[in-house]
Amino acid sequence: MARYNDASCRLCRREGEKLFLKGTRCYTEKCAMSRPKRSYAPGQHGQAKKKQSEYCMQLREKQKTKRYYGVLEKQFHTYFEMANKKSGVTGENLLILLERRLDNVVYRLGLGSSRAEARQLVLHGHFTVNGKRVNIPSYLISANDVIAVCEKSRTNARITEILDVTSGRSIPEWLSFDADKMQGTVLTYPKREDIDLPVQEHLIVELYSK
Ligand code: SF4
Repeated sequence: MARYNDASCRLCRREGEKLFLKGTRCYTEKCAMSRPKRSYAPGQHGQAKKKQSEYCMQLREKQKTKRYYGVLEKQFHTYFEMANKKSGVTGENLLILLERRLDNVVYRLGLGSSRAEARQLVLHGHFTVNGKRVNIPSYLISANDVIAVCEKSRTNARITEILDVTSGRSIPEWLSFDADKMQGTVLTYPKREDIDLPVQEHLIVELYSK
């Protein structure tokens, strides 16, 4: 399975904003975007002042969204096609599909300090959906699904540590979480206003519609 293996902070520097790809580190002074000397785009021309064309803005918005969710180009395009076939606003459909990924839901429930970590934990088979073990990060959850930490993983030191770290994090309204049972429930599908990412999805639709 293809995946991005380069430095995550480079991606934030490229987009010029925090994408929160490294969990707790993103909230500390170690974050590259918090350090003025490192908050410019990576590469030889990273500090050059550039005027952004319309295409460039659309491209950057797509890249940023892909990076938030840790999805590569081909899969992202597949999500766009799925969103385009659904009724409603394509851009909103796209974000809702991405938000329904199992790795994202695990992250939103506070069972991963970042989406990348949530993805890793899902791949390692630490979660069940409606009682069945699911190890596919792109699995799309539905309303009323119950996502739980596997019986065997409940004493896993890393999962316990993550729950401690994320205990103060707010859970979106479309999810509920029972920390004692280590399980979350999908109350309903997310709506656009539930997705707190600073993404202008219409720019992505414009890019793919060219
Ligand atoms: Fe981005 Fe997190 Fe790295 Fe900061 S620490 S630059 S938010 S990945």
